[in-house]
Amino acid sequence: MEVTPGTSDNGKQLTALLAQSKSNGVEVKEIIADTAYSGKDNLAEMKKESILPIVPLNPVVHEGGERQEGFEYNKDADFVVCPAGKHSLRKAVQGSKKSGKSRSLVYYFDVEKCKTCPLRDGCYKPEAKSKTYSIRIIAEHFQDQIEFELSDTFKERIRRRPIIEHKNAEMKRFHGMATAKYRGLFRMRIQAYLTAFVVNAKRMVKLIEQKQPALG
Ligand code: SF4
Repeated sequence: MEVTPGTSDNGKQLTALLAQSKSNGVEVKEIIADTAYSGKDNLAEMKKESILPIVPLNPVVHEGGERQEGFEYNKDADFVVCPAGKHSLRKAVQGSKKSGKSRSLVYYFDVEKCKTCPLRDGCYKPEAKSKTYSIRIIAEHFQDQIEFELSDTFKERIRRRPIIEHKNAEMKRFHGMATAKYRGLFRMRIQAYLTAFVVNAKRMVKLIEQKQPALG
């Protein structure tokens, strides 16, 4: 567990988390994580350490792709916010994943809002049926991972990711992690570590019970 300010990039914590796990005696054979961890440096580190990267690609987060002034990609929610502060409504992928060629993520905005937007000049063409913002996924930097993502191993192992999310949800819903009880990283670390300790202890009890069924 790493506790960081809300503005930090999750993906940058991988090295520290890996070192932490190893120093706790964990042999790390694979890493299952969300797209925030699929940056070039993280993939290179996992390759160097012979760790299987069960990390879905979203290179846009790391490479940026095309940029248009004033549009912001929100990687957590996977939508784009336009200069007028409107969120994209839906997303489509252009280009074949299987071909391994560069693909684009196309984000669609609500044209009804664009029609009356004060910033529409140069952004929305009058009468256009759609307003989109495209971000190119740069395939060449991620070729190995694109191929690995299509493998049965990847598809099988990535199914375990929701289990990790359940644990996060348990910490939030039942153990107060939805709210920072204290100010400052040091105090937040105490809250986070103690919460992790509690859910781990609960898990250990469950595993012991499973191993030793009650007599009688
Ligand atoms: S025209 Fe549409 S996409 Fe462009 S800034 Fe306005 S609301 Fe946003």
